Amino acid sequence: MVKESIYGLTFEQLAASLLERGHKPYQASLVWEYLYRKRVTSFSEMSDVKKECIEMLSESFEFQTMQQHVKQESEDGTIKFLFKLRDGNLIETVLMKHKYGLSVCVTTQVGCNIGCSFCASGLLAKSRDLSSGEIVEQIMNVQLHLDQRNQDEKVSHIVVMGIGEPFDNFENMIDFIKVVINHKGLAIGARHITVSTSGLANRIYEFADSQLPVNLAISLHAPNNELRTRIMKINRAIPIEKLMESLDYYLEKTNKRITIEYILLRDVNDHKEEAEQLADLLQDKKQKVYVNLIPYNPVDEHSQYQRSEEESVLTFYDTLKKRGINCKIRQEHGTDIDAACGQLRSKQIKKEKAQ
Ligand code: SF4
Repeated sequence: MVKESIYGLTFEQLAASLLERGHKPYQASLVWEYLYRKRVTSFSEMSDVKKECIEMLSESFEFQTMQQHVKQESEDGTIKFLFKLRDGNLIETVLMKHKYGLSVCVTTQVGCNIGCSFCASGLLAKSRDLSSGEIVEQIMNVQLHLDQRNQDEKVSHIVVMGIGEPFDNFENMIDFIKVVINHKGLAIGARHITVSTSGLANRIYEFADSQLPVNLAISLHAPNNELRTRIMKINRAIPIEKLMESLDYYLEKTNKRITIEYILLRDVNDHKEEAEQLADLLQDKKQKVYVNLIPYNPVDEHSQYQRSEEESVLTFYDTLKKRGINCKIRQEHGTDIDAACGQLRSKQIKKEKAQ
C-alpha cells in the first residue's frame, strides 16, 4: 500500500481519524505538536503519543514523500529547491528573503495546463495534481532546512505561485492552507499567504465564499481581450469581463484587497497605451486593487519575449500612478540562478533526458 504524507491531514481530519478508533482528542494535539512545533521527522520520535496511535498512523502515513534533488542558492539569499516526488516527477519550491521575513513559493501541480505563452512552468502539461500533503511537505522541507541552519528562522509568508494553477487543484490547495494557518501548528498568518490564479472565475466565487482570510492575486498581464488571449489562452474561455465580474463579487464578499500581477513584456504589453487601458479597467475598483509590475525573466524556449526597457517600466508605473492606481515594481529575487518560475525544473528535465 502506498502511504500518504502525514502532512496532508488537517487537524480536524487527524482528530477525527484518531477519535474514530477510540483515542482521546488530546492525542491529536500531541501528534500535531510533534509535527509542526517540535518538527520531528519520524513517528518513533513522538515519545509521549500512545503506542496504538503511532501504530495506526504509521500504517497509513509517512513523513517523506519527496527528496531534495537539486538546490540552487543565490547571493541574495534566495534558495531554489527541486524536489523529486515518489513517482519521479520534479517540482520547484523557492525560499525568498525579504525585509519583512522569509517567504516560500510553493508548487501545486506537476506541470500546468493553462499554457501561458511566456511561462517556463507551462512548458510541460500537467501530469497530475499535488496532494495537500505534498504541498505542505514543501513548506516543511524548507522549514527543516532553516531549522538546521540554527538561526531561529521561520517561514513567515507563503505565495502559492509556483508551478501549476492552484484553483485547478482547489480542494487540496484549501486543505494546505488550513494546515499551515492552524494556530497550534506552523501558525503562519493567513494575511501572510497569497494565492495566485490565472483567473478561473468559477473558483474565484468559491474562494470568496470560503471566507478563508488569505490574499488573492490575479495574473492579468494584459488590459484587453485581444492581447490577453494572445498571451494567455485561458482568456478565450474566461474573457476579461467575466474575470472582472468575479473580482467584483470577491471584493464585495471579502472586502479584501486584490493584487493584480502584470508581467511586462517588451513591446508586447508595456506601452503607455496599455497602462492607460489597465487604469481604465481598474478605475472602479482602484481603492481595492494593487498592481504588481513584474520585470520579465527571459526563458530560452520563449524567445519571442524580452524583458522591457527600464524606461518603459517607469513610464508604465508613472502612468498608473497618475491615474490613481496603487502599484509597485516587484523586487527581483535569485537573478543569478534560474529565476523564472519553472526554469530550473525544465532545464533539469532536459538535462536528465539528454544523459
Ligand atoms: S503562469 Fe501560472 S497558470 Fe500560467 S502556465 Fe505558468 S504556472 Fe500555469
